[in-house]
Amino acid sequence: MKTIQNAINGVLVTSNSQRQAAVFNPATGEQSASLPLSTNSEIDAAVAAAKKAFPAWSNMPPMKRARIMFKFKALLDQHADELARAISLEHGKVHDDALGEVARGIDCVDYACGIPQLLKGEFSRNVGPSIDTYSDRQALGVVAGITPFNFPAMVPMWMYPAAIACGNSFILKPSERDPSAPMLAWNLFMEAGLPEGVFNIVHGDKEAVDHILDHPDIQAVSFVGSTPIAEYVYQRGTKAGKRVQALGGAKNHMVIMPDADLDQAADALMGAGYGSAGERCMAISVAVPVGEKTADALVARLKPRVEALKIGPATDKDAEMGPVVTKMHRDKIVGYIDKGVEEGAQLVVDGRGFSLQGYEEGYYVGGTLFDNVTKDMTIYKDEIFGPVLSVVRAKDYGEAVTLINEHEYGNGTAIFTRDGDAAREFANNIEVGMVGVNVPIPVPVAYHSFGGWKRSLFGDHAIYGPEGVHFYTRLKTITTRWPAGIKGGAEFSFPSAK
Ligand code: NAD
Repeated sequence: MKTIQNAINGVLVTSNSQRQAAVFNPATGEQSASLPLSTNSEIDAAVAAAKKAFPAWSNMPPMKRARIMFKFKALLDQHADELARAISLEHGKVHDDALGEVARGIDCVDYACGIPQLLKGEFSRNVGPSIDTYSDRQALGVVAGITPFNFPAMVPMWMYPAAIACGNSFILKPSERDPSAPMLAWNLFMEAGLPEGVFNIVHGDKEAVDHILDHPDIQAVSFVGSTPIAEYVYQRGTKAGKRVQALGGAKNHMVIMPDADLDQAADALMGAGYGSAGERCMAISVAVPVGEKTADALVARLKPRVEALKIGPATDKDAEMGPVVTKMHRDKIVGYIDKGVEEGAQLVVDGRGFSLQGYEEGYYVGGTLFDNVTKDMTIYKDEIFGPVLSVVRAKDYGEAVTLINEHEYGNGTAIFTRDGDAAREFANNIEVGMVGVNVPIPVPVAYHSFGGWKRSLFGDHAIYGPEGVHFYTRLKTITTRWPAGIKGGAEFSFPSAK
């Protein structure tokens, strides 16, 4: 069984922590690795290495930093399959899904390769007599990222490629559940020629997170995870004077209008609801058909599709969905299904008790479909983060919109319709950060930015893309005057262009 190491100052280091966590293969239920819950002094060592690396790295011409990013990207392309296998082994998602995750992560590295262009400031000549002004965005220093289990390669890549390309040095605290993919990426970044200390990884749990949040030498923290922790991280981090962006959980609704192509909508719901076993922050967990006729026809299409879902380990090429991440998480999802039944929702397809021959110890939950879910039910209010789709019937379009706008989360949403007016009105007025029109999972591409509204994001910046570059830099504006243009004598009035 392997022991996961920390990566500090360009080398892999075995932790001397007395506290360890177990990493499991969710497909089989076997422990695959042991992970250190790092001590505060190990985190201090990583921060010290990052602080030492910062001056030279931030002063390196952006074009040179970009060349290292280009090499890193090429290595990631070469090792994409290996990264996907590492993800599947610890997360459980099927291979093609893991490959998709790696590809979307690489997109963010691709974007960071353009850093010389992205850091270009603005210049105004002659803002006054012989006076010019220019603005510049400068790196912050040591910044940290704390990431969730569900995209162990991609979500860290929403953070460190942009942060590092901007000239910062970085501390990553990945999820305890699936640490191998970020470690593999770290190795590739080193191979690409990244100087020691610029990118460090320390493993840990709440203790490590708290130490990062309080650390005086860390300037900014990016967090992605569940809403209660995101809120906590935002409050504690900002109280310690840090810039914080904390992305939280979700309950994403898809509205199906009466004029939609229902086969297309049902197919979209299958991928968006059950892909990655529903463990995506942009998964659709609520379908909102408008009108009883639409609802009946949609449920009739969904039921056989959900029953036919092919569930298996990532090594099964035909599997459409893998296990969920841990035994505890499986039990929590099953508990939610029990609760849905108890509270009166109609269970159309029951995924409890699903067992896979030869993998009886794996953490599988079958695809589950509820109909006639109402907004007071726990399965509607909470993020379940599993393969459970709830159908909430709306009598008209207005009721569907009110439902979405009143939910505490506002990460993603979608509308399926052939009506351009309805789609436009929905996109304009819905209180959600990312909207799809006939697109079920509207995750923005790497050159736009990702961010929800309401309790799905705490802080002022969305993540990656242009907002990522802004988050990881601060603005400096410089006004210059050269002696040839300076008239003699003191000036006491406030300087203006008059
Ligand atoms: P999580 O909140 O349990 O963990 C996220 C990180 O926080 C981990 O690194 C973990 O070690 C740390 N952590 C856990 N408990 C902590 C505590 N009490 N104090 C301090 N730190 C703590 O989330 P998860 O289960 O790993 O991931 C799933 C969640 O992430 C879902 O809610 C999902 O919606 C969300 N998510 C959101 C986005 C987004 O972009 N909005 C993207 C991916 C995942």
